[in-house]
Amino acid sequence: MADVVHLRGPVLARRDASGDVEVRDEAWVLDGRITYDRPASAVAGRQVQEVEGWVLPGLVDAHCHVGLGPDGPVDRATARAQAERDRDTGVLLIRDAGSPADTRWVDDEPDLPRLLRAGRHVARSRRYLRGVGDEVEPEDLVTTVTAQARAGDGWVKVVGDWIDRDRGDLAPCWPVEELTRAVAAAHAEGARVTVHTFSEETLPDLLAAGVDCWEHATGLAPETAALAAAAGVVITPTLVQTARFLEFAAAGEAKFPVYAAHMRALHARRPQAVRDAVDAGVRLLVGTDAGTELPHGKVADEVSALVGVGLTPVQALDAASWGARDYLGAQALEEGAPADLLVLPADPRDDVEVLRAPTAVVLRGRVVRG
Ligand SMILES: [Zn+2]
Repeated sequence: MADVVHLRGPVLARRDASGDVEVRDEAWVLDGRITYDRPASAVAGRQVQEVEGWVLPGLVDAHCHVGLGPDGPVDRATARAQAERDRDTGVLLIRDAGSPADTRWVDDEPDLPRLLRAGRHVARSRRYLRGVGDEVEPEDLVTTVTAQARAGDGWVKVVGDWIDRDRGDLAPCWPVEELTRAVAAAHAEGARVTVHTFSEETLPDLLAAGVDCWEHATGLAPETAALAAAAGVVITPTLVQTARFLEFAAAGEAKFPVYAAHMRALHARRPQAVRDAVDAGVRLLVGTDAGTELPHGKVADEVSALVGVGLTPVQALDAASWGARDYLGAQALEEGAPADLLVLPADPRDDVEVLRAPTAVVLRGRVVRG
């Protein structure tokens, strides 16, 4: 392995306060960190690896279940393969959005992406995918959320709405009073709360309860988007997942026709719901929802889908890189930042499709792909 990596650039280092992308001509990776000062070592006989291409700070998948498969928790070898697949697409920071497996060991594996765990999903009894969540009734929501806040890395995942079989439609899972107390309890533990939500009906409760982040949020409309923006709520649209709503509708049609019609309506409105968020100024995060039914390694699909519904390439890249990293407490490629980055064959601001074929991936200063 070379002592120094010379990134010949250009380097899309960060977004500045005005939203402009700061572009540097070239950079070096030295002792795991990025530097823009040509290191003396590079001219003192140390081996230098030259890497050609456009450099972007490592991608984020903000909704990615490492350790979870279609049938519940998976073994360590499977979880490792999931994380490697994400890493090789340039995803170097994952917020897991809930996992029933204990994946703390990932922190000790320097070749795997950095992982922010949310503990186990907190779900209402019999109102989520079987075998995944910690299923409780409202009176136990506060204690369960507190426990998961302590188990995770600063995030708790709550399932906010799901089909109510008695009603035959989506319905909020929690009384707003209990949800409000649970969010306060998580905040007291220093954790933020993100909530799974499909339905329009749930969003006022999430706003009232002070939930930090919304997953899917297909029920968004201009009014709720404006309120979310004002409250600093961040949204992970997971378009790769919500594209499947027609399948969910078909599967539920015979027993739950009202639910099926609702899911079709939400499906039809999903491009506009994302545009409503953008127009209101809500920060978006790229999340693939890999790990239940969906495979890992789909980050480029999600970025492409966001552009497909109307984001500019820079807006979509911000949701996948600069902005998402900042929101989750990771640096971009400022001087001295950890060298977590990917190298692309062309400028992704011209066409995000280049994310599908990174020429190199550097994690903690080591070339892990390329
Ligand atoms: Zn999920």
